[in-house]
Amino acid sequence: MIGIESKLSDNVKRMRPSEIREILTLTENRKVLSLAGGLPGPEVFPKEELAAIASRVIEELGDSALQYSPTLGVMPFREAVVDFVKGKGVKVNDNDRVAVTTGSQEAIYLLAMTLVNPGDGIVVESPTYLAALNVFRYHGAEFIPVPIDENGMRTDLLEDSIKKAKQRGINVKMIYTVATCHNPTGVIMSDDRRKELLEVASKYDLLVIEDDPYSFFVFDDTNFTHLKTMDSEGRVIYLGTFSKILAPGLRLGYMIADRQLTRAVELAKQMVDLHSSTLSQYIALYAIREGVVDKTIEKARKAYKEKRDVMVDALEEYMPEGSHWFKPKGGLFAFIYLPEGVDTADMLPTAIDRGVAYVPGRNFFSDGSGANAMRINFSYLSPDKLRTGIKIIADTAKDYLASKRATSA
Ligand code: PMP
Repeated sequence: MIGIESKLSDNVKRMRPSEIREILTLTENRKVLSLAGGLPGPEVFPKEELAAIASRVIEELGDSALQYSPTLGVMPFREAVVDFVKGKGVKVNDNDRVAVTTGSQEAIYLLAMTLVNPGDGIVVESPTYLAALNVFRYHGAEFIPVPIDENGMRTDLLEDSIKKAKQRGINVKMIYTVATCHNPTGVIMSDDRRKELLEVASKYDLLVIEDDPYSFFVFDDTNFTHLKTMDSEGRVIYLGTFSKILAPGLRLGYMIADRQLTRAVELAKQMVDLHSSTLSQYIALYAIREGVVDKTIEKARKAYKEKRDVMVDALEEYMPEGSHWFKPKGGLFAFIYLPEGVDTADMLPTAIDRGVAYVPGRNFFSDGSGANAMRINFSYLSPDKLRTGIKIIADTAKDYLASKRATSA
């Protein structure tokens, strides 16, 4: 057997496993209630409509739909994406261009390739989306974490954090935010804070990545304005995805940003995957045109709101005293803080043995905090299973605390 390890590039040493994907692998083929991934509820997938559309796309457009296509995406789909986001209140500037990407995860990766030099500073919410942290970390970014509360990023702390990073010699370059229906907490940044964020970005000449997979799923009457729409200086890069509003298996996301940046992203994408799936793009195009996407959004919002309510009831009923969380205003996730002393990573194997999986909170913090926190997803399981899953987690946490107390007594 040859030794592969000595052949691996130095890059591999900087790669971190995605805890979520590892847990998904661990729980595959086991009867585990997974509250770990960000999976849409399968009942929401428009299966019949997509089966009919897929077959029509191949019959009608087979020669082009099965063919290679331009790196930034097929033109009718790019145009449809612009109309679609405009219809959802996202401002698109004359100088903007769309890049279709293989999920918005690829957009994050391409942005890191094109914007981040080792040592560059990126402001992130604390906690934030763990796979963005992994990408930026791989590209050598320095994180500037800013805490959040129920109104999103604490923008009152933003300028000071940037100043301190600059004093340490860091070239602060951008702010990455999941401002609407935040992953992992489900909070929505208030418009006042969005304004403040943009003012600070302008003062320090920072780019802003508005990563927005979840703004279609706002459950209560919370008003918000997209950062992209508030921005008058062309510094907001908007990321969207069809993963939660159609199907993640299509692997379709998009970036809308200044044309110069889009050109750089195009060059990067030429190296990574040439282009995103042509077939997926035509399927999504038909789905937008025929109202399937809007119908799926409505169906998902209703289903997820109901599940959010079931989850919150179950949390209140079962979680050990001293636990706390934000009631998610939208999205797919809740972030639970268990009492101090619980290490959710340490507790996970027991939870999985008892039939339930979640993501330990530490992964969502750039500074390694959050040991007593966990992210749970509420979109995937049926309401009954969700309730059962939360009860198992709560019982496991109570047992964990009791055994800690017993060993320290
Ligand atoms: N950004 C955020 C905040 C996410 O939660 C996710 C996936 N759950 C992504 C990006 C990537 O999603 P996709 O690649 O499926 O579009």
